[in-house]
Amino acid sequence: MTHFTFWGVRGSIPIAKASHLHFGGNTICSEFSTDKVQIFLDAGSGFINANVSRDKPVIILFSHFHHDHIQGLLFNKDLFSGTENVFLSTSLCSKTDLLEALDRYYGGRLFPETFDKITQAINFLEFSEIQSVIGDEIEVLSLALHHPGGCSGYRINSSDLSVTNLVDNEYFGGQKRALCDFVEDSDLVLWDAMYTEKELKEKIGWGHSTIEQGVRFSEVANIGGLALTHHCPTRTDEQLLAMERLNEQGNCFWAKECSIFNN
Ligand SMILES: [Zn+2]
Ligand SMILES: [Zn+2]
Repeated sequence: MTHFTFWGVRGSIPIAKASHLHFGGNTICSEFSTDKVQIFLDAGSGFINANVSRDKPVIILFSHFHHDHIQGLLFNKDLFSGTENVFLSTSLCSKTDLLEALDRYYGGRLFPETFDKITQAINFLEFSEIQSVIGDEIEVLSLALHHPGGCSGYRINSSDLSVTNLVDNEYFGGQKRALCDFVEDSDLVLWDAMYTEKELKEKIGWGHSTIEQGVRFSEVANIGGLALTHHCPTRTDEQLLAMERLNEQGNCFWAKECSIFNN
């Protein structure tokens, strides 16, 4: 049976405040796990709480390289030993460019261990090579999103669960058809819910969508459910809970750290 876990649901920067504990303060990371393969979508600070498997292929798939999507990578204890089964990949660029991006973030004087030494134990994989590692039973698809510097959306299909990740993305009307096609029949869609419609007016071009756009998208797309995630770091639990009226009868919900979605 496939499990989908939210390990981090916060955008931009982790936040540790009592007012944010219910939904969680760690940045973006989620896990799609079957008995054959484990796939992580991004490795923000939430990645620190994930258990990396030793006995099946593990793919860490990056949407892009903004801090909130990579800052947890080298803080997961499981990555420092026995990592022959762990593969880092992205559809955004080649594996050489992926290594270079991570090396820039963790290299030189910015991290206590040299990235060269760490990467000796981690494998890098071209996106086109993923299927050969994970086999035919799981399918991984990609779609370019609208975000400064580029960002990859992903869809993962197994026999019993289909999840599509659309974080980070600045939604615009012209995307509607392509996104609806990409998510068609997904059990779960992850939506970039960084802003409210009112806040977006000041943040055009920053690369994020709104809560209200997510609710409307869930009403037109043929999907099982939509998780509003990548919560703004200043958004408190109280504020999120007060907005539940946005979709009282719909299929939207707030993504919550350490929660599990099953079909
Ligand atoms: Zn982000
Ligand atoms: Zn970003």
